Amino acid sequence: MDFSFAHAPLDRAEHLRTDSAALARLWPEARVLVLDARGDARIDAHGMPPALDGTVVGKRPASAVFLGLHDAQGWFALPAIDAPATLDVPATIDLRTAAAQWPVREATAFAQARAVLHWRDRHRFCGACGAPLEYARAGWLGRCTGCGIEHYPRTDPAVIVAVTDGSRLLLGRQAAWPAGRYSTLAGFVEPGETLEQTVVREVFEESAVRVTGCRYLASQPWPFPASLMLGFVAQAGPDVPQVNDELEDARWFGVDDIGLALGEAHPELKLSPKLSISRWLIAQWHAAQT
Ligand SMILES: [Zn+2]
Repeated sequence: MDFSFAHAPLDRAEHLRTDSAALARLWPEARVLVLDARGDARIDAHGMPPALDGTVVGKRPASAVFLGLHDAQGWFALPAIDAPATLDVPATIDLRTAAAQWPVREATAFAQARAVLHWRDRHRFCGACGAPLEYARAGWLGRCTGCGIEHYPRTDPAVIVAVTDGSRLLLGRQAAWPAGRYSTLAGFVEPGETLEQTVVREVFEESAVRVTGCRYLASQPWPFPASLMLGFVAQAGPDVPQVNDELEDARWFGVDDIGLALGEAHPELKLSPKLSISRWLIAQWHAAQT
């Protein structure tokens, strides 16, 4: 599948999260994704996430999150404020740029690091009693220092949908997007809702088009900041789209327009970037038409 953050994941080696001796052995030669407060990653002279050279002494910072293993090397995520001096390099890269420039494994690990560090940054206190959390399991568990309940990293499910009436594809655009940019419709799952119900509700809310059936295809972690995109294709009648305040426009596009836009040759229509599952869903639909 031709989109980012879904391939070559690290072996999360969950059993090592509580093995402090094993993590201590991995640390001196670890690959470390050092993220600043914006969620951008520090890069070395080669533009890649730096690795420790084995000479680092002292303890692994308590804020280091164990991401997993690749071969025998441990990979960690670390807030820049806690980075050892040897990792204190000034240059950074944002995740969207890294998705286009880095090897797949590094980009996928960056997405993992960004998601888990964002969770921790926004969940420093217990939602039940307000006391600070203390992190355990190498960063994957926040335990309340007041009432003792456990908090785990959150990810927010959202559906993203290629809606077709059989011969055309429904795309929409937000007012803030670059001129000509259209994308598949998307929206967050609400509590108590099935994914299929979310597909029907979101498409109707955003475009007044009624979905009659849908099928799940694939998913993509989307840590901007905390989503999991669940990709669907859905069938609908040829309703005339009507937008409200969420979208500036929604309309049906034929196979020729979509083909030109996928080849970056359409004079007006621009699709989402190649890293996104949105573009992949559109390409899947197009391939099935031709
Ligand atoms: Zn509490």
